[in-house]
Amino acid sequence: MAAVATHADWVRRAGELVPEGRAFVDGAFVAAAGGATFPSVSPRDGRVLAEVAACTAADVDRAVAAARAAFEDGRWRRRPPAERKAVMLRWAELLRARADELALLESLEVGKPITDAVTVDVAGAAGCVQWYGEAIDKLYGEVGPVREGALAVVTREPLGVVGAIVPWNYPLIIAAWKVAPAIATGNSVVLKPAEQSSLSALLLARTAVEAGLPPGVLNVVPGLGPVAGEALARHPGVDALAFTGSGETGAHLLSCSAASNAKPVELELGGKSAHVVLADCPDLDAAAEAVAWGIFYNAGQTCNAGSRLVVERPIAAELVERVVAIARGIVPGDPLDPATRLGALVSAEHLATVDGWVRRAESDGAVVACGGAPVEVVPGGAYYPPTVLTGVTNDQPVARHEVFGPVLAVIEADDPAHALAIANDSPYGLAGAVWTADLATAHWMARELRVGTVWVNTFDATDVSLPFGGFGASGHGRDKSLHALHACTRPKTTWIEHGRPAVAAAGDPGRTP
Ligand code: NAD
Repeated sequence: MAAVATHADWVRRAGELVPEGRAFVDGAFVAAAGGATFPSVSPRDGRVLAEVAACTAADVDRAVAAARAAFEDGRWRRRPPAERKAVMLRWAELLRARADELALLESLEVGKPITDAVTVDVAGAAGCVQWYGEAIDKLYGEVGPVREGALAVVTREPLGVVGAIVPWNYPLIIAAWKVAPAIATGNSVVLKPAEQSSLSALLLARTAVEAGLPPGVLNVVPGLGPVAGEALARHPGVDALAFTGSGETGAHLLSCSAASNAKPVELELGGKSAHVVLADCPDLDAAAEAVAWGIFYNAGQTCNAGSRLVVERPIAAELVERVVAIARGIVPGDPLDPATRLGALVSAEHLATVDGWVRRAESDGAVVACGGAPVEVVPGGAYYPPTVLTGVTNDQPVARHEVFGPVLAVIEADDPAHALAIANDSPYGLAGAVWTADLATAHWMARELRVGTVWVNTFDATDVSLPFGGFGASGHGRDKSLHALHACTRPKTTWIEHGRPAVAAAGDPGRTP
């Protein structure tokens, strides 16, 4: 486990790893129908980790057919909830037993620190599978308040075949957020991981089958978004789509749905979260720490990252000084070093995009207070240091668009109302935070922030029991919690006419007691 493995141990294990890159369909690994592959390149050092099946419409057809057959014959959905629960709990345990391998795949494919991969990503995915497993035999239907002589029950039924399309920034966790509630409720799933991060998704599915999930219930079709993803989104045999990714792709998926079978599409999109720190902040050191890690964790590649620091002017200089001091102490390191807290960005291309945003901000008048240029850590890798931009105004592009890198834009506000107006002046609405010592201000801000999650005097606190999703351009779906089960099921009303009431109603002489 990570607690005892050294940097050298992880490097050795990485060298010994032989990842499986074929698609996973009907319980077995299979090459893409056309035999084509694409390389999975590690941003740690530019090394090719594996050749991954480049699935096309033919593979998606095969996976959807397998998922459909599994759904129709009821091999999973008709199993009693307690049996489904037992399989999911076993699946969670097997994921924990495989933590090292899963974490290595995750760390190598997307460059995240191995310690985070073990303690956050693998632990979070296993915890999510366990949570939905435990939930599934505790869900009740409803009895409608209808007249005597009838019983109306509302049950929730699985949708059928769910297509899940996920991004690369938290490959295992987000796959688990989609797959676990869908499978717990009896659906079959076809999962399309991001091109940058197919390998842990494939192992996730294999582990499910080893835990007892019947073949065909969970299938994985790696491939390019506009090919495999698009085929899934347009497939008439897919009953619903669950998507996490960029707004652009999300909007496109709605048109794919409209052009095919009008399947419902759950969208979890990007963010530009405001981290508001007011002048009465109760603990500036704690706020500085939260602001820094709120953007630099996972190298800023987090949908809800606090990428805008909105700070009241009287404390701005002091807070920024503390954030910059913390940022300077977060030195990008080899993702395989257990001491590393900031690894690589996902790819060399993404690194160039992030750097482009910083250059653009500078030309718009922002000042680079720290960071601001790529650094070399492991030769061939994609590393960018924590970067703080001061003098940003909320109308500048760097304050409006997702940079998706370790780049903090500092925006000064005149007073709390101005800070709120800046925070809400964004197309996105995923999350936001406010630091204040005043209870009334905290409640007012929490109510008025147009976002799916608000933190008060903290940032990024989370639990699988709580819904996560956005307002506005951040999408409308909700991952995690019991709310996610609603998106995987639909209510069915059954009205049972069971005859005359046993006791005569007043004024109804025709009825026998
Ligand atoms: P992306 O939209 O480029 O890709 C996401 C997925 O969509 C990938 O699997 C990709 O292959 C697929 N895809 C791309 N084009 C497609 C098409 N034409 N048809 C079907 N599928 C297609 O996003 P990304 O760069 O992988 O991920 C980063 C984005 O995800 C950011 O915007 C981030 O904020 C967002 N995100 C949101 C949440 C949330 O919960 N709201 C969580 C994590 C990431």
